[in-house]
Amino acid sequence: MLSIKLARNTGFCSGVRRAINIAEKTLLSAKENKVYSLGQIIHNPQVIKRLKERNLCVVNSLDNIEARSTVILPSHGSPKRVLIAAKKKNLKLIDVTCPYVSSVQRICSRLYGQGFKVVIIGDEKHPEIRALLDLAPGARVIDKAEDINDGKITFKKIGIISQTTQAKDKFFLMVSKILEKNPEVREAQIFNTICLDTANRQKEAAKLARSSDVLLVIGSKMSANTKRLFSIGRKINKNTYLIEKEDAPLDKILKGAKTVGIISGASAPDWLAKKIIEKIRHK
Ligand code: SF4
Repeated sequence: MLSIKLARNTGFCSGVRRAINIAEKTLLSAKENKVYSLGQIIHNPQVIKRLKERNLCVVNSLDNIEARSTVILPSHGSPKRVLIAAKKKNLKLIDVTCPYVSSVQRICSRLYGQGFKVVIIGDEKHPEIRALLDLAPGARVIDKAEDINDGKITFKKIGIISQTTQAKDKFFLMVSKILEKNPEVREAQIFNTICLDTANRQKEAAKLARSSDVLLVIGSKMSANTKRLFSIGRKINKNTYLIEKEDAPLDKILKGAKTVGIISGASAPDWLAKKIIEKIRHK
C-alpha cells in the first residue's frame, strides 16, 4: 500500500490567495464591464484560465487597454514607470502586489536612496526583479557564481537583497562570493528577503525528498518557486517530478514506490493537489 506524506505548506501561499481573492471580487463587482490584468496575476495557467472564463482579459501592454478601464496588476509587483503610465491613462488600478514583495521594494528603494549600490540575487527576466530594477537604477542582478567572476564588483557601499523565491543556501553563497570579490567595500547591508512561505516550503521539500521514495512537486513550470522546489528535491532524490496537471502519468511515476511525498508551489491551487491525491488513493 502506497503511503502519502503531504507537506504542511500545500496550495496557495498567503500572497497568492490574497491576489486571487481580490481578483475574483473585482470580476464579480464589474458585472458586464471589462476587467484587464496586465500580465499574469500569478504564475499558474490553470488558475488564469479560470479567471479568463469569468471574463478577465489578460494583456501584456497598456496599449491594449481602453482608457479608464479597471486593471489588475500582478502579485509579483509592477515597474514604477508602468504605474505612472497607467495613471496617465486614467486607469482604475487594482494592485494585488504581495505585501511581502512590497516590503522588499521598500528596502530596495531605501538602499538606493542612501547611496548603496543595490545587488539583487535573482533572475533578471522575472517580473519581480524588473520591478525592483525600476526602483534602483543601475542595480546589478546576479543569478549564478559566474555573474560575479567578471571583476566588475568594486562598490564602497553595497546593499544586497534577494528575489523572494530564491534558495537560502544559494543566497548566502552568492553574498559571501560578492563580498570576497569586492575588496573596496566599506559598508555592506545584507537583507535576506526570501519570503517565509518560500523558505518553509523549501525546507519541507528537502525533508520529503529524503524520506520518500518519490517526491511530487505540484505547480507550473512558469513558477519560479515551484521550479526551485523541484530542483531542491531533485538534488536529494532523483525520483522527484514536477506535476502540472491531474492527467500526469502517475502510474508510471509511482511504479514500485512505497512512499510518496507531495508538496506544491505557492501558486498551485488546493484543488489540483486534492485531485492528484484522490487519483493516487484510487490507484
Ligand atoms: S511566494 Fe512569498 S512573496 Fe511570493 S506571493 Fe507568496 S507569500 Fe508573496
